[in-house]
Amino acid sequence: MKFDGTMLQGPRPRFRTATRVAIVGAGFSGTLLAINLLEQEDVEVLLIERDRRRIGAGVAYSSFDQTHLLNVRAGNMSAFPDRPGHFCDWLAARGLGCDLSRNGAFVSRATYGQYLRETLAAAMEKYGRSGCS
Ligand SMILES: Cc1cc2nc3c(=O)[nH]c(=O)nc-3n(C[C@H](O)[C@H](O)[C@H](O)COP(=O)(O)OP(=O)(O)OC[C@H]3O[C@@H](n4cnc5c(N)ncnc54)[C@H](O)[C@@H]3O)c2cc1C
Repeated sequence: MKFDGTMLQGPRPRFRTATRVAIVGAGFSGTLLAINLLEQEDVEVLLIERDRRRIGAGVAYSSFDQTHLLNVRAGNMSAFPDRPGHFCDWLAARGLGCDLSRNGAFVSRATYGQYLRETLAAAMEKYGRSGCS
């Protein structure tokens, strides 16, 4: 393209300082990456998922069958490495728990999917810098 100066006469470009990250796949890994990136300053996240039913939960945690249990204790399934009690607190707020002496140690994969979806929604609402398509 030949430069004739006309491109300088349009609207002034907006300078972006944010780091923009596109994540393909809004399953377990993509969702957790998005949630943790959103907490960083100056990061914009675009989360791309081909199957809307899987957003936030992926293949493993899209089940609605309450008898399908996690094979990892709830106490080890927090979305945040620096807040290991986050999932247990989320469960406790819903009358569930991580009681190791009871069955609560292994909650359903459906419940975990709900946790992931709600945690993603909360991060998007709080930080407002994410898109999901
Ligand atoms: C039945 C089952 C039960 C499991 N139970 C446990 C458990 O209890 N505890 C445990 O720790 N681990 C468990 N796992 C392992 C767990 O699934 C994986 O560790 C984790 O979910 C993998 O996450 P992922 O993001 O790689 O894949 P997924 O969570 O499957 O996410 C991949 C996403 O990418 C999307 N995608 C793929 N290609 C494209 C594309 N081209 N464009 C847009 N989107 C795309 C898919 O639709 C999907 O939503 C289980 C796995 C399975 C299959």
